[in-house]
Amino acid sequence: MTSSADDTVAALASGAGRAGVAVVRISGSRVPEIAAALIGGLPSPRQARVCAFVDADGVAIDRGVALYFAAPASFTGEHVLELQGHGSPVLVDMLLARLLELGVRLAEAGEFSRRAFINDKLSLDQAEAIADTIDAGSSAAARAAMRSLEGVFSREVNALVEALIELRVYTEGAIDFPDEDDIDFLGDGEIERRLNAIRQRLETLRGQAAQGASLREGLRLVILGAPNVGKSSLLNRLARRDTAIVTDIAGTTRDVLHEQLSIDGLPLTLVDTAGLRETADPIEAEGVRRAKAEIEHADHVLLVVDDTSGLGCDEQALLAEIGNRCPVTVVANKIDLSGAPAGLRRGQDYEHIGVSATTGAGFDALAAHLKQAAGMNEDATPAFVARRRHLDALSRADAALEIGHERLVVDAAGELLAEELRTAQNALGEITGAFTSDDLLGAIFSSFCIGK
Ligand code: GDP
Ligand code: ZN
Repeated sequence: MTSSADDTVAALASGAGRAGVAVVRISGSRVPEIAAALIGGLPSPRQARVCAFVDADGVAIDRGVALYFAAPASFTGEHVLELQGHGSPVLVDMLLARLLELGVRLAEAGEFSRRAFINDKLSLDQAEAIADTIDAGSSAAARAAMRSLEGVFSREVNALVEALIELRVYTEGAIDFPDEDDIDFLGDGEIERRLNAIRQRLETLRGQAAQGASLREGLRLVILGAPNVGKSSLLNRLARRDTAIVTDIAGTTRDVLHEQLSIDGLPLTLVDTAGLRETADPIEAEGVRRAKAEIEHADHVLLVVDDTSGLGCDEQALLAEIGNRCPVTVVANKIDLSGAPAGLRRGQDYEHIGVSATTGAGFDALAAHLKQAAGMNEDATPAFVARRRHLDALSRADAALEIGHERLVVDAAGELLAEELRTAQNALGEITGAFTSDDLLGAIFSSFCIGK
């Protein structure tokens, strides 16, 4: 990005196309002179003024409302002028052309938000939350994004950073004065107690962030089960079209099939796999190997069983193998044959949902269950929205604290603990943008829309 502090930029901030009103936003130090040329001077800050937007000859291009926000009390922290004109693409183009003539540059994607971040108006995760608010695929995702925007996530991250700094100072003090008053600071348990409290808090935050991320990015569901139980039929029913091959010959889906879909705005990636069974056929064996490999990348496994026979030994073994690597829901298919009721069955080790891929019975319950798994339940939406990069930073912080704990308890090495505390602090700083690189900022803001 080539922007400099005195570079003034403009863009259409409202949606493209014809509409009642179009909003053009201008931000930068040259806003006062632009206002002088375009609308005969700056309006009083935060007071709507109705006026003509004029060309070089003083002829009106459009007439509308001008709003001025003086630096630093604006969205970007710079002088901002907002022009609300008629929602005509032609008039908007003429107005932007006039602004270019006045030396304004067209804003790049996310440039207003980037300027807001650079001028300390927003933390990085708050800036991301703006994009997430706009892109929200469901009301739950929108509510969570709003809470991120209000700073719920950054406040908790900052509180953890504070606690880490305090502990580092304390630890470094313990290193510098190891035998002060004959007290063993490193060994008295206080450092470990504080460290454990921080780790616990981080663990809670990770759980919330994981929920917030699945709300935004959806779930990756892997469908497993023996041949012919109805995996492909289930996928087709969920996707409502015939993508996977459904046949009576066991083992037709030899490879792994991906399908993108959304349930009430929750993005889902469904992965259909080959049937899991012991086999001598090398091609089929490869399919089974790939199916098992998919478990590693799953957010949730749907284990499909034929309800006329139920959970067999192979399925029990598979459940044991998955263990607590990811949540599993047993989908008891073909209830039209077994005669069992549709929907959630209580009192099982694993959650069982009775469905029929043929009749569609039980699919409402299955959809509700998946929404709940992704944090879309009405009464308990996630505390905030999060992204993969946030989860990654949280897990790096967690790993550093785990190593730090070992250094303290096993090696009694205070310096090494302090180093890990710093690593954890930097990882957390990447979330809010306290600690970041130009590359990261470029990657984040370029995915925003123009005008935001
Ligand atoms: P997969 O091998 O697990 O992918 O199973 P398929 O989806 O290919 O289905 C195998 C056979 O079971 C096909 O003949 C389907 O029509 C049939 N089938 C799938 N689901 C149901 C169901 O809910 N009820 C009944 N009666 N048949 C089903
Ligand atoms: Zn199949």
